[in-house]
Amino acid sequence: MNQILIIGGGITGLAAAYRLEQITPYPITLIEKSVRLGGKLFTEQVDGFTIEAGADSFLSRKPRGVGLCEELGITGQLCGRDPQYNHTFIRRHGQLHPLPEGLSGLVPTNLEALNNSPLLSPAGKLRVAQEPFIPPAENPGDESIAAFMSRRMGGEVYAELVEPLMSGIYAGDGTQLSLAATFPQLRQIEQKHGSLLKGLSSPNNRDALYPPFVSFNGGMGEMITLLAAKLKRTTILTGVGVADLQRTTAGYIAHLENGQHWAAAAVIVATPAYVTAQLLASLDAELATAHAAIPHASSVTVTLGYAAAEIPHPLDGYGYVIPRVEGADLLACTWSSRKWHGRTPDGAVQVRLYLGRYGGQELVSLNDEALFGLAQAEMKQIMGVTARPRLQRLYRWPNGMPQYTLGHLERLATIETRLTHHPGLFLAGAAYRGVGIPDCIASGEQASERVCEWL
Ligand SMILES: Cc1cc2nc3c(=O)[nH]c(=O)nc-3n(C[C@H](O)[C@H](O)[C@H](O)COP(=O)(O)OP(=O)(O)OC[C@H]3O[C@@H](n4cnc5c(N)ncnc54)[C@H](O)[C@@H]3O)c2cc1C
Repeated sequence: MNQILIIGGGITGLAAAYRLEQITPYPITLIEKSVRLGGKLFTEQVDGFTIEAGADSFLSRKPRGVGLCEELGITGQLCGRDPQYNHTFIRRHGQLHPLPEGLSGLVPTNLEALNNSPLLSPAGKLRVAQEPFIPPAENPGDESIAAFMSRRMGGEVYAELVEPLMSGIYAGDGTQLSLAATFPQLRQIEQKHGSLLKGLSSPNNRDALYPPFVSFNGGMGEMITLLAAKLKRTTILTGVGVADLQRTTAGYIAHLENGQHWAAAAVIVATPAYVTAQLLASLDAELATAHAAIPHASSVTVTLGYAAAEIPHPLDGYGYVIPRVEGADLLACTWSSRKWHGRTPDGAVQVRLYLGRYGGQELVSLNDEALFGLAQAEMKQIMGVTARPRLQRLYRWPNGMPQYTLGHLERLATIETRLTHHPGLFLAGAAYRGVGIPDCIASGEQASERVCEWL
């Protein structure tokens, strides 16, 4: 009987397993190195606080996030952000300024709101207003997000507004990230409408069945629990990593770190790119090198809990983002108890700080005390909080976020070419065509569909 092996039990590997169960009769095994399933989806319950270690929500407009939830019958457990606090701020010169309304993804489209914002100079605002009159680039190759946005709307709006929003998704450096690999739709809008402002103001029939960002009442970890519980035919091995993958006449053999091995006719590798590079090193050096060439950003999330009375700031929104030009090691601060209802004990406040800028200080190697110190200094400087937190937790994500830098699509082309030499081997996950949870789900499902076609 054809055995199918999935390596990696993050959302990608689990979504792949679920899809395989629907479409193939073959036995499935999933091997996860950690004792816990979920990878970057991990929620802890501590003293009445529901704490997100990694991802805290996903976009509903990308179909496979809510799509999978619908298939699993778990949409009843989805929740949106508390609409009462629907504002986000930007920290600039040590002050918080409301994010202008009318943002369509990264792009400001409401010129009136922008004009009323202190975030841009008069010249910066004028430059944005000129965007419809800037002709599209003729025959453009790929360019960085920074180059594209600066060309269309001016360098100031990029640095002050677009960059911190983009950082919230990729935790990256927009001067290095490839537009074609990250936001290809922006280029398409430019080509089709001649202008982002014109293109983004055309009617939008977006399905509004769900709030724009969704999570689970019990946090994103609940998605993993619910998904894993639906797996009926998958043998799951946790707490043991795969060390190496080799070809056999009947398929592949995975050598595990504990000395055991596992044979399979088809394999889906759903590990981070730098792990995939190691697993495939003896199978195909070029394939491994293309994976090793994908850079990654490291970050740390710090959650702090206080008594509400200890916070002099009104926390009148979901939190704030911090542009690179501000020169801080922090990317964002989420006022979690405002954003998500029912995850913080009554009378308490929960905030989450996102630390670590790609190309900046390597914060993951700092000790806990130093990291908590950075977080508390931010609380004091920006929100006037002098009390010591009653609860503090931190989570390090070394190499947690792949960076689709310029040349990413060429690296993917190399990977796809090399894969044609390895029938029965399939790759999925955040390293390829989208880092968001719905992208990862789609990637895992697609790998399973290819397995099914192939077997
Ligand atoms: C701090 C942070 C915040 C984020 N916030 C959001 C957000 O709010 N919304 C959003 O959409 N996305 C967010 N992302 C991105 C998103 O969470 C990830 O891209 C996605 O979860 C990746 O899923 P994955 O299954 O591909 O990889 P992972 O979650 O990395 O899973 C891979 C799994 O492989 C396992 N593994 C590693 N080595 C081996 C081995 N040798 N053998 C077997 N198993 C192995 C790992 O233990 C892990 O469980 C965030 C990411 C980070 C780091």
